[in-house]
Amino acid sequence: MRLIPLEIGRVEGDLRAITGEDGWVTLPVAGWLIEHRHGLALFDTGMHADLQHTTARIGRNAEVFKPDFKPGEELTAQLSRHGIHPGDVAHVILSHLHFDHAGGTCEIPDARLVVQRAEWEAGHNQQLVDAGVYTPDDYDLGHDVQLIDGTHDLMGDGSIVCIPTPGHTPGHQSLRVELDSGPVVLAADCIYFQRMLDTMTVPRFGTDLDQQFDSMHRLAAMQTDGCRLIFGHDLEQFREIPIAGLI
Ligand SMILES: [Zn+2]
Repeated sequence: MRLIPLEIGRVEGDLRAITGEDGWVTLPVAGWLIEHRHGLALFDTGMHADLQHTTARIGRNAEVFKPDFKPGEELTAQLSRHGIHPGDVAHVILSHLHFDHAGGTCEIPDARLVVQRAEWEAGHNQQLVDAGVYTPDDYDLGHDVQLIDGTHDLMGDGSIVCIPTPGHTPGHQSLRVELDSGPVVLAADCIYFQRMLDTMTVPRFGTDLDQQFDSMHRLAAMQTDGCRLIFGHDLEQFREIPIAGLI
């Protein structure tokens, strides 16, 4: 198997909203292509290509998360650099449905979406949609959607496993991938970057902060057991991963 990082633009994040500190931080927006012998899977789809030109579709989110997203950085362009056509991707696993994780889903129309049921329900909660937390136009597009409840073994061989890590959102999930070099967990927004794990801080806008701390502790325990954690938005860590991927 191979785990390939795709940088689908970046957002400039207001640290006051993330850690409570002053200043801004550059957050890579990541998608992950997983080459498995039985097909291609993608973990998260990044941002909608409209955000290369206008922030209208994310409303007030743009005040604290300013997209830095250029033409040619969208999901399909990143896939094509690896010789992958959108129709080649069989499974799209979404960590959660925020604009910077599910926004590029329209670019992979034929894949099956794999989402925690709790997240799909939150993503259709009218109050949350009205508040701009979720944009169903990002993900409710007529795909074949597989709703899962808890841990889910994608390929049936233990190599790619969805791990619920709720808190940031109700149905947030991380993904464990068993590479030849050892197990990796893609933490997504359960842990944005290394310093948030070091200091056990979470953004205050999460749905349930106690639950998110529990999820962080579970991922930290996996790290103690020898699993490599890859954070959701850690620029330094992300840029250290080879463009050709991890094997
Ligand atoms: Zn998020």
